[in-house]
Amino acid sequence: MTAIPDYISPITGYRVWQWHRAGLRSLNGETWHHGEPLEARCRSSERLHWRRHRANPRPHDAPHLHCTCGIYASKSVEHLRRPGYQRSLIYGQVLLWGTIVEHQRGWRSQYAYPQSFLLPPEVLPVRLMEIETLLKSLISYDRDIFILHHGAMCPLWKNDSGLAADGLDYLTDRASKWYIQPNQRSAIKQGDRIAVAGEGMAVVDDIDGTYVRVKLGNKTMLRIARKQVSWKKENLRWETEARAYDEGDGNR
Ligand SMILES: [Zn+2]
Repeated sequence: MTAIPDYISPITGYRVWQWHRAGLRSLNGETWHHGEPLEARCRSSERLHWRRHRANPRPHDAPHLHCTCGIYASKSVEHLRRPGYQRSLIYGQVLLWGTIVEHQRGWRSQYAYPQSFLLPPEVLPVRLMEIETLLKSLISYDRDIFILHHGAMCPLWKNDSGLAADGLDYLTDRASKWYIQPNQRSAIKQGDRIAVAGEGMAVVDDIDGTYVRVKLGNKTMLRIARKQVSWKKENLRWETEARAYDEGDGNR
C-alpha cells in the first residue's frame, strides 16, 4: 500500500463519457456534476463488507491497489478508439489527482474533472439549433470543446470567448451538404444507426417482422417494435421515442 503516490498537481488522461442533455455520465452511469470534481467510491468493497458483517458499509478508500475501483482514464486517446465504441460516446481530456494507481495503459484516480471535450461528428445532430441545445450541457463544465475530424481537433467552443468560427464553418458546411441530399428512407436495414430513447445510439443488428434488434455501444442487445421506429431526416438517423426492451438477462 505504500506504493501509491498522492498527486497534488493533476495529471492529464483521456476518457469517454455518455453525453445526455443533462450532462455527462461514466459508462457505469455515474453522473459528473458541473463545477465539482468526481470522487471515486468503491462499490464492490461496500457490497463485500455488507455481506460479511451485515453492518454499515465500510468500504476501503478508492482507488485501492488490489481492487478495480477508481475513476478510469487512458494514457492516449488511441487506446479508447475501439470499433463501434465511438458511436454514442464523446471523448475528452480529464484531470486526475489525489490517490492515483498507474497501469500500463492508464490510471485509476481518486478525483477527476473534465479538461476538454472532443466530439466525433457522429454524436452531433445536423441541425444547428439542436446542436446548441445539446452543447449547453457541455458548456456548463467551463471547458473548451473540439470536433474530432479526421484525427484533427477543430475548435467549436472556447470557454473564454464562446463559439469558434472554425467549428461553426464545419457544422454549417455539413448541414448544407445534408440538405441537398435525398432525404427519404423507406426501409430500415441492418447496419443502420438508430437513436434509442433513454439509451443512446445503437446499430441495427437484425430485423424480424415486427421487431428490430439493435446493439448498443456497450454490446447490450435491445428489442424494439418496428412501428415505434421512425426516420428523422434532420438527424440523419432512425429514432425511437418509446423505451426499448432488454434482449438479454438484464446483465448490464
Ligand atoms: Zn475497491
